[in-house]
Amino acid sequence: MEKRIPFVDLVSNYKKYRREILRTIDEVFLSGKFILGPFVWKFEEEVCKFLGSSYAIGVNSGTDALRIALRAIGISNNDEVITTPYTFVSTAEVISELGAKPVFVDIDEDSFNINITKVKEKINERTKAVIAVHLFGLPCEIEELSNICKQKKIYLIEDAAQSFGAMFNKKFVGTFGDVGCFSFYPTKNLFTYGDGGLIITNGPVVDKKCRMLRNHGIETNYNSEFLGYNSRLDSIHAAILLKFLPFLPRWNKRRRYLANIYIENLENVSYIKLPEEIPNSYHIYNQFTIRVKEGKRDSLKNYLENKKISSFIYYPKPLHLMKAFSYLGYKEGDFPIAEKVSKEALSLPLWHNMPKSMILKVCEEIKNWAHS
Ligand SMILES: *Cc1c(COP(=O)(O)O)cnc(C)c1O
Repeated sequence: MEKRIPFVDLVSNYKKYRREILRTIDEVFLSGKFILGPFVWKFEEEVCKFLGSSYAIGVNSGTDALRIALRAIGISNNDEVITTPYTFVSTAEVISELGAKPVFVDIDEDSFNINITKVKEKINERTKAVIAVHLFGLPCEIEELSNICKQKKIYLIEDAAQSFGAMFNKKFVGTFGDVGCFSFYPTKNLFTYGDGGLIITNGPVVDKKCRMLRNHGIETNYNSEFLGYNSRLDSIHAAILLKFLPFLPRWNKRRRYLANIYIENLENVSYIKLPEEIPNSYHIYNQFTIRVKEGKRDSLKNYLENKKISSFIYYPKPLHLMKAFSYLGYKEGDFPIAEKVSKEALSLPLWHNMPKSMILKVCEEIKNWAHS
């Protein structure tokens, strides 16, 4: 029996680097420093060098990175924050949780990312910030968005949870806005074996606020100056991330190489629309997401499943149609492109050390399906 092609294989990377990872864990355990501490400080320093940012703050998850970023820039009751409805739930969840109002705008059909023109239309005197998401590893039109936000004097937060190392005009995403947020969840392109996240900024005030927020609003001496969170990065994850960070450019390159094999082999296949890069972007393909036209997405997904090939739907439902956000009063038809794309999107298997032969096998089966 042929082996299943998983959606993502995280064990293969562990096997490859097993000795180094185990040595790293041993080093952390012997240091007696388990939360924050020297491994975290070192990781924060290395990330700053890598991305070209002034400050980096390690936190517990990508969600916490967003939550703390919003708190640090002072988002609260009755503020409006503009974002995309086509993203992971955290992006808007943290806005609501702080008592602010998520204001959704539709996406661009070809990039899956927020439509900049529509952002401009939604900015009013209550708008405090925009959260831009670089979905699937593809930068959104971040330079133009950054100019708009500067001109309107509102904050720009980047949700780069799926895009560590992605670039726009040769500059890393996460460094365009006032604050950049990352996640190291195991399926992200830079990851650890548990939860982890990161905030980057060039602002010393935001940096200090984030550092205090991740530790209950405390700067020194158990003296809390404002309410915060327990959102400290574990040393073990920082140490593993420190090991993985130098590999990342190679991993991202390999993702692009594999994505191009999909693209070469699936060009002109009926019903399939391939992902496109926007000009001047460096897509790192955290997900390789195609669109399947004419209502045939689920048919392809089932076909692949029968051939023991896993695929995944990111995302089956845009946020404005979820029960959690029903209080905002949006309805079906409000964001037609996000709604359409959520019925057509299908992400195919891709991880940085996936064998090329597996990609070719997936392509072959997709072609068989299209011709059947
Ligand atoms: C993964 C992800 C998050 C949340 O990160 P966690 O570490 O899982 O909390 C936020 N936004 C986007 C776009 C993500 O993909």
